[in-house]
Amino acid sequence: MAFEGLSEKLNGVFKRLKSRGKLSEADVKEAMREVKMALLEADVSYKVVKDFIAKVTERSVGEEVLKSLTPGQQVIKIVNDELIKLMGEANSKINFPNKPPCIIMMCGLQGSGKTTHAAKLAKMFKKEGKRPLLIAADVYRPAAIEQLKVVGERAEVAVFEMGQIDPRKIVKEGIKHAKDYGNDLVIIDTAGRLHIDEELMNELKDIKKIAEPNEIMLVVDAMIGQDAVKVASSFDEALGIDSVILTKLDSDTRGGAALSVLAVTGKPIKFVGMGEKLDEFEAFHPERMASRILG
Ligand code: GDP
Repeated sequence: MAFEGLSEKLNGVFKRLKSRGKLSEADVKEAMREVKMALLEADVSYKVVKDFIAKVTERSVGEEVLKSLTPGQQVIKIVNDELIKLMGEANSKINFPNKPPCIIMMCGLQGSGKTTHAAKLAKMFKKEGKRPLLIAADVYRPAAIEQLKVVGERAEVAVFEMGQIDPRKIVKEGIKHAKDYGNDLVIIDTAGRLHIDEELMNELKDIKKIAEPNEIMLVVDAMIGQDAVKVASSFDEALGIDSVILTKLDSDTRGGAALSVLAVTGKPIKFVGMGEKLDEFEAFHPERMASRILG
């Protein structure tokens, strides 16, 4: 389960806080040093941790908290509140345009879970009564097209593919197909690379121009830790993203990325993936994530 290291640490700190009677300002500062270490070890970015600690300390050393009968618990509550704030409001809404189709463009590094999560999204929206079409625009590996067809079939969603030709043409034709066949949702699976390069970004920029997507979703593997934030920042600067899907939260990653993505990029995490199966997918809930962190 993700976050175990962090939650254990925080629990230790707060147990000690709880066991003391009155808290002093020095107690809070001491506890915050441990919280800081725990967050840094969980791959939360340094600046985010610094700001977080400053906020929690400021609120915790207030008269009401220190004089209260349960100062430790109050500090825990403040940490919990601030963790939630850091991750933003729960927000998994996709704005469907008045005139269909709604177009979602998936992007991300190779192996991040793009193809799988394109299908997860399609399946979820199909359940909600939409008629999704998946477009196979990840053309560099024949296996990627095949994989999209496999997961599309599992999700019982149509897949549009034209083999390994120019993805710009595929996207153009795919959207035309969606309009002709009444698909009100188009999800484009684009190519990923092992690292971000100019060629990848140029292709994505071209696809963005052609597709005019309503939502550009970046798929990020939570297992890459701090790098998740770097990847999100780079994609956002080069392409402009609207939201993030954080995948592989079923792994033993500490998942600090969940805490930093919004704070650093200003872009919300809308969904999380917790497994290879298409149902292992849910809307991102900051309060659930916070209580998981706190344990
Ligand atoms: P893409 O290259 O970005 O399209 O990534 P894929 O969708 O092909 O996923 C890469 C690998 O990660 C595949 O083996 C998937 O089954 C696996 N995968 C995708 N999402 C998750 C997830 O949330 N949890 C786990 N454990 N594996 C995942």
